[in-house]
Amino acid sequence: MTAAAPVPGCDAPAPRVRSERGQRAVFCGLTGIVWLHRKIQDAFFLVVGSRTCAHLIQSAAGVMIFAEPRFATAIMEERDLAGMADMHDELDRVVAQVLERRPDIKTLFLVGSCPSEVIKLDLAKAAARLSAKLMPDVRVLSYSGSGIETTFTEGEDACLSALARTAPRATADDPSQLVVVGALPDVVEDQFARLFDELGIAPVRFLPGRRSTELPKLGPNTRYLLAQPFLGATAATLDSLGCVGVAAPFPFGAEGTTAWLSAAANAFGVPASKVREVTALKENRAKVAIARHAGGLRGKRIMFFPDSQLEPPLARFLSRELGAELIEVGTPYLHGRWLAPELALLPGVDVVEGADVDRQLDRCRAARPDLTICGLGLANPLEAEGLATKWSIELLFTPTHGYEQAGDLAELFARPLARRELLEV
Ligand code: SF4
Repeated sequence: MTAAAPVPGCDAPAPRVRSERGQRAVFCGLTGIVWLHRKIQDAFFLVVGSRTCAHLIQSAAGVMIFAEPRFATAIMEERDLAGMADMHDELDRVVAQVLERRPDIKTLFLVGSCPSEVIKLDLAKAAARLSAKLMPDVRVLSYSGSGIETTFTEGEDACLSALARTAPRATADDPSQLVVVGALPDVVEDQFARLFDELGIAPVRFLPGRRSTELPKLGPNTRYLLAQPFLGATAATLDSLGCVGVAAPFPFGAEGTTAWLSAAANAFGVPASKVREVTALKENRAKVAIARHAGGLRGKRIMFFPDSQLEPPLARFLSRELGAELIEVGTPYLHGRWLAPELALLPGVDVVEGADVDRQLDRCRAARPDLTICGLGLANPLEAEGLATKWSIELLFTPTHGYEQAGDLAELFARPLARRELLEV
């Protein structure tokens, strides 16, 4: 079994955090539609964009080819971009077509892209106008997934922020509740719901839930717990509604999951002894599952390129629960308030916020890590140079949170190294 390293005390070295500015090689925020449309079962995502946008979503969601997807692209043609057509009329026509085909849809998201931003198409105004026409049957919201404004996971942040703004308001007289924020696969949501129930924390709601119309009432007696580190804008929206955030390490690995649950328990006055009683067995089972993959990762030198914002918690999991050595942890943004508990667990580690892909590639080539975690665009060239890589997108598409997924999460990192060893024999 792998024992987690002790939590560092006040005299432990801080991580070495610095910022870089430059070119980045990261997917845009449209990618989030792939997991968001699976999660919110009565929502439809209509990208207002180009053929490139349509190709991106279709290839990212290729595995869904046999399911009836709840996303589409309203493709802007040249005459639209040249201002020769009334875009609002076109949009109304496409929205009417979608809703006629999909009467089960209760929330329609208009998702902005680079082309819609370049021509300054006001999707917020379009959403308000369409909502006024279609409510109470269908609510229309908008957010941007454009590559000019967003990286990979920021699309989810923008979407959840838009959703939270429409939630009913709670008052100080409403009972206290916990809201878990972040799109979790249903199986993970159910596991966490059971754990909170055992801890005696109730009611617990999830944002987003499976149905867009069943939003929790949000207000001063709402404590919220982020399940993902990239939800800074959503957190700011919740703060503006009077909700109170609980900062914690994120629920990746045995240690992270216990720390995350403990922070919620602490906020609700649940004694530490109760937390141990509920979590001890499950945490141990997770440690056993993780230990199966530790052999392949112990002492391995790992580098993260900035991509999903999941990098700091995943790096913490790799170093503390799998014994890997971190060469550099790149991340597109660091939301200091939410990442502080993670950074405290990464003493002395080089953390680089932002991106300068050329300089990062130089450092990677010089260090020749055993495993590089990066976006799809960088993985193939690095593999061709003899470096083992892991696509960071897989870490979003696969259930990875919580005790029961901790072994699978370890395996995701161990697999490329095992494959390389087999090839080298
Ligand atoms: S939104 Fe921008 S970056 Fe994303 S696919 Fe469309 S054109 Fe490309």
